[in-house]
Amino acid sequence: MRWCLALLVKPDAIDTKILEVLMEDGRASFRQIAQKTSLTTPTVSSRIARMTKAGLIKKFIPILSGDSVNRGVTALVTLKSGSASVQRLAEDLAKMREVEAVYMTTGQSITMKVTLSDVQSLQSFLTENVLKKRGVEVTSNQIITSTVKEEPPSLLPGTMVMNLKCDYCGGDVTSSRPYTISAGPSHYYFCCKTCRKEYLAEHGKRLAKITRKLQAL
Ligand SMILES: [Zn+2]
Repeated sequence: MRWCLALLVKPDAIDTKILEVLMEDGRASFRQIAQKTSLTTPTVSSRIARMTKAGLIKKFIPILSGDSVNRGVTALVTLKSGSASVQRLAEDLAKMREVEAVYMTTGQSITMKVTLSDVQSLQSFLTENVLKKRGVEVTSNQIITSTVKEEPPSLLPGTMVMNLKCDYCGGDVTSSRPYTISAGPSHYYFCCKTCRKEYLAEHGKRLAKITRKLQAL
């Protein structure tokens, strides 16, 4: 048995406050967020940089309204694979543009959400891309008639983790108050004092230059 003790950093109350504002308005400026949360602008900017670096914030994208986009036909298709590896099959399906979501479920099944222009295209998509694979059968194929709720994950305190990597050794940053260096808009994180020191020894001159340049502006 192997023990895996990767302790991940959890977002704290400050991160959560910032995320709440961003979930409402992803285009809010650092200043607007600072005003709403009673934090300073540099705190907001460095926390967002940290959450982005840690992969907690994946990207900022517009959410298109389903009503105003003619999306054709969307279906939830459940498959079973007799011979092929379920994991491989799921990964193959995930690569297709028509496939919006792929879930692996209990009982070695896969459920995917696919969108095509019409029912006929959906049928031929399934015939061409799914049923041709050996041992794969469609166990259910349901066309979505209306979407009642479809939202990105909401903020559940305690369920979020940040996977912050040390900028020197690449190891996990496990403290909620990691060792850091800031240079202009960039923030660097370290797992320990030694990594921070080594990083400064290698890059200190370059970082100081960036900071001096920005201060001169
Ligand atoms: Zn390190």
